[in-house]
Amino acid sequence: MRDWLSHRAGIDPGREALVDTTTDTSYTFGTLDTLVDDLASRLAAVGVDDGTHLGAVLRPCVEYVCLIHAAMRLGATLVPMGDGLTPRELATQLDAADVATVVCDRGTEDAVTAAVSTLGGVNATHADDPGGPITVATVDNAETTAAEQLSTVQTGSVSPASWSLDDTQLLLFTSGTTGDPKPVRLTTGNLLASAAASAFRLGVDPGDRWVATLPLHHTGGISPILRMPVYGMTVVLREEFDAGDAADDLDSYDATAVSLVPTMLRRMLDRRGTLAESLRVVLLGGAPAPTDLIERCCNYSVPVYPTYGMTETASQIATARPEQAVESPERVGSPLFLTEVRVVDEAGSPLSPGESGELVVDGPTVTPGYYGTPAATEAAFGEFGLHTGDVGALDESGSLRVLNRLDDRIVTGGENVNPGAIADVLVDHPDVSEAAVVGVPDAEWGERVSALLVPESGVSPPSAEPDPATGRRLDSDDVLAFARDRLAAYKLPKMLSVAETLPRTVSGTVDRAAVRDRFSPEASATNDGR
Ligand code: ATP
Ligand code: MG
Repeated sequence: MRDWLSHRAGIDPGREALVDTTTDTSYTFGTLDTLVDDLASRLAAVGVDDGTHLGAVLRPCVEYVCLIHAAMRLGATLVPMGDGLTPRELATQLDAADVATVVCDRGTEDAVTAAVSTLGGVNATHADDPGGPITVATVDNAETTAAEQLSTVQTGSVSPASWSLDDTQLLLFTSGTTGDPKPVRLTTGNLLASAAASAFRLGVDPGDRWVATLPLHHTGGISPILRMPVYGMTVVLREEFDAGDAADDLDSYDATAVSLVPTMLRRMLDRRGTLAESLRVVLLGGAPAPTDLIERCCNYSVPVYPTYGMTETASQIATARPEQAVESPERVGSPLFLTEVRVVDEAGSPLSPGESGELVVDGPTVTPGYYGTPAATEAAFGEFGLHTGDVGALDESGSLRVLNRLDDRIVTGGENVNPGAIADVLVDHPDVSEAAVVGVPDAEWGERVSALLVPESGVSPPSAEPDPATGRRLDSDDVLAFARDRLAAYKLPKMLSVAETLPRTVSGTVDRAAVRDRFSPEASATNDGR
């Protein structure tokens, strides 16, 4: 297989590939292909070839887009890393991924240089270049436009690598939510299967204009850049995310698609009320999407596709269509084509529809493993595939609900309890609009199941007078009785507290530590309810 961009440029040279919103410059597939060739020749001049682990520490820019495709053209393995990492964090990642050459920009150059210098000793054990230093190549993007800079690079002919499905194209770091970020190997086959399966779910149109504004070192951010030549679509690159400006771009560039995380979408809706009418896909993932956000989209007719994915699966695992999101805003739809999701218990045995357990995923998008850490890979894979570390349930129709991370699991009196499943029961009570369930350390039980409730509007908290308009007040005993009919005794909340809203992190997910704090002895004196 030859690289996707050169293939696309061969068949559609005049089609628009990329628009840079910063300079309002547009690039056809033909022009982009030439820029990528230029950059590839410059990289080859500093020793990059097939087999090189090529680090990228840059802000999103046209050069970064070129770099992604240039690395693929040379057969190198690209290792994108966050542009806001400290030298120490960068050094850890450079080392973990055995990076030989790093490309940075003016903004990241100092941190990269500092990281590389601390690696002097570590790098001496570098596998494919023993004792060799890491090369730092700077792509200047501060003062001149991409076209100007790239027109000055040395040109030469690059012989394009030919790829097989098993070649590792990318080492992409996980976000590090549950430990240190892990370098995930993503192969040509993983990326191609993901592009195809995503298109089967979202549809694909050569006239698509996809606004890319997520960081390019995460799977959701890099995916549109990789898929651009596969679909023959246009990527509209917004380098800095500003909610108002990004929403305006959707309008002014006639965007048909955009990928966002929940916080971004919430801010855009807060600023502009609704999003461009030209949109046909708002792919929303990366973190649990609060149901009120999905409901807002449905009310304002934003075509939201809630999705669940992870680095290890090259992005989407399951994705719901807008009409499904209207019906059940808490679900992420069914798994994509050829992706299989099983729900298993602690022994790894499959559970029935409706039962919650760990999600295990298998299929052509699933990574062959983590780079350089066979033990981590071995620990992650079981009989049915990759253990996601997420807890969820499939309904009868195969639609997936992601409840919480396995790490959030509560262990009480030796029993394991999934907080999400309990919160689900509590919000079924007519007076409860939202619930967060956490384990609070307890000498006797290990952890005590504790629930923070938000009353429905028109329902006052237990300690207050009944709502003057409706005459309703939340009755904690009634909520507990309701839960007792539906949950085994060990799962019942031992402590209930009531708040006006749930504490949330900046990304809009429930801030579990803050919920736990509400139940600490000092906080409990001021708690409403019991
Ligand atoms: P690490 O693996 O290093 O702990 P991470 O899992 O946060 O970090 P990513 O691969 O970036 O790294 O994120 C994938 C995770 O994000 C999923 O495993 C899941 O926990 C969460 N996630 C993604 N989409 C959703 C969603 N729609 N609902 C709930 N959780 C989601
Ligand atoms: Mg993870």
